[in-house]
Amino acid sequence: MPTTVMWFRRDLRLGDHPALLAAAEQGDVVPLFVLDDALWTPAGVPRQQFLLQSLRALDTDLREHGPGLVVRRGRPEEVVAAVVEEAGACAVHISEDFGPYGHARDDRVRDALGEDVPLVATGSPYAVSPGRVTTQQGETYKVFTPFSRAWAEHGWRAPAESDPSQVTWRSVRSEDLPKEPQGDADLPEAGEEAALQRWRDFLDEREHYDDERDQLGKQSTSGMSPYLRWGAIHPRTLLADLGPDDASLRSEIAWREFYAAALWAWPHAAREYLKPEYARMPYVTGNKRKARFEAWCEGRTGFPVVDAAMRELLATGLMHNRARMVVASFLVKDLKIEWTWGARHFMRHLVDGDLASNQLNWQWVGGSGLDAAPYFRIFNPTKQGEKFDPDGHYVRRWVPELADVEGRAVHTPWTLSTGVPEGYPEPIVDHKAERESALEAYQELRTPR
Ligand code: FAD
Repeated sequence: MPTTVMWFRRDLRLGDHPALLAAAEQGDVVPLFVLDDALWTPAGVPRQQFLLQSLRALDTDLREHGPGLVVRRGRPEEVVAAVVEEAGACAVHISEDFGPYGHARDDRVRDALGEDVPLVATGSPYAVSPGRVTTQQGETYKVFTPFSRAWAEHGWRAPAESDPSQVTWRSVRSEDLPKEPQGDADLPEAGEEAALQRWRDFLDEREHYDDERDQLGKQSTSGMSPYLRWGAIHPRTLLADLGPDDASLRSEIAWREFYAAALWAWPHAAREYLKPEYARMPYVTGNKRKARFEAWCEGRTGFPVVDAAMRELLATGLMHNRARMVVASFLVKDLKIEWTWGARHFMRHLVDGDLASNQLNWQWVGGSGLDAAPYFRIFNPTKQGEKFDPDGHYVRRWVPELADVEGRAVHTPWTLSTGVPEGYPEPIVDHKAERESALEAYQELRTPR
């Protein structure tokens, strides 16, 4: 039998895996993961930990059927070519990567492999791959609702029946995984089995999803994002289990696909304002920016819900979606710091950090994105806290300085008759004044020059 290489990247699983199926149909399979410093080094501790735990889980699953995962560290174009040579492989199989870095990397690997050893892409991390759903004019959708309609009409395949026990696994020399960095984050369990278990648990409880998914501090959403990010589960597996009553969850999965298609069409959206005029907003710079940004990152802004959310991120590598919207709006519109700063901090720490979903959600909140929330809709962090954390449990959980403040008063510690509890800061900005100056700047932006 010929030998092929299955190069795992954002698809760290063995089930519902079209590329693995294609590799196994062609021959015996060497399962490879390349630790690429360009992606590894910028990742923060929780991201590195979660990736290593996901790789260990994949290795354990592989060892039930064969010799285990081959890990190599280095530049993919060199490493993949070297593994092909050592294994005498006739092809390298991948799930297609539509991110700007991944796509360019795959072109380099394709060149390095030459014509005799094809890099074969089968499937992608999406139910419908970017570029497939377009407007009647063949353009990428800029508005979500028509995209999601066309996406649902396009439909997707049933989960692929890849069966690791039917594969003949082969091995070549492997390196040890790097030592796991020390970190305090309480991460979700990694790996395909954990993903499937979490998904089954969610299916049993999902009747609360529509009513409770905006409530901070309640685990009423699926918790699938880290697993989708690293491909421990495929979105098709999720979609296959959903029925007519699950429209809102299906719609959330569609947002992920909408943003992936958008980044594929406009890769500059990862760094630049999609509406370039927003670069002209009056942002703070220098020491003022430094002080404000540090307070935001560390959860010391004096706005309890913002601080709880930023500390949740550091403690768990995750943050509730509602909280992500609140802290993003606060950074851009209250603290007057450009979205790219916040997006970078998120990408360092989020275990589900995904360039398309992250950057485009940041642009959406900041007003410069696709289908954008209007800039003038500025979140009031106190009201958001009172509405979505009405008893204050979420804040008390993450901000111990406020643990003794009862009920919803925890959202307004500056009004307590005893004063702001010791160790907790006064608000670093005046929300009302910042809101007004943001709206003035927005009006100016819209006035023709
Ligand atoms: P559920 O509500 O159970 O949703 C199911 C799945 O749908 C999610 O796992 C996710 O894949 C997808 N989804 C849900 N909401 C969105 C959305 N708004 N945009 C795109 N996909 C969505 N999500 C990421 O996966 N990675 C990111 O880096 C990321 N950064 C974000 C940054 C900001 C500023 C904001 C406002 C949102 C961001 N999101 C990101 C979207 C969203 O917050 C998370 O997907 C969600 O909190 C994950 O929790 P869940 O899996 O329980 O979601």
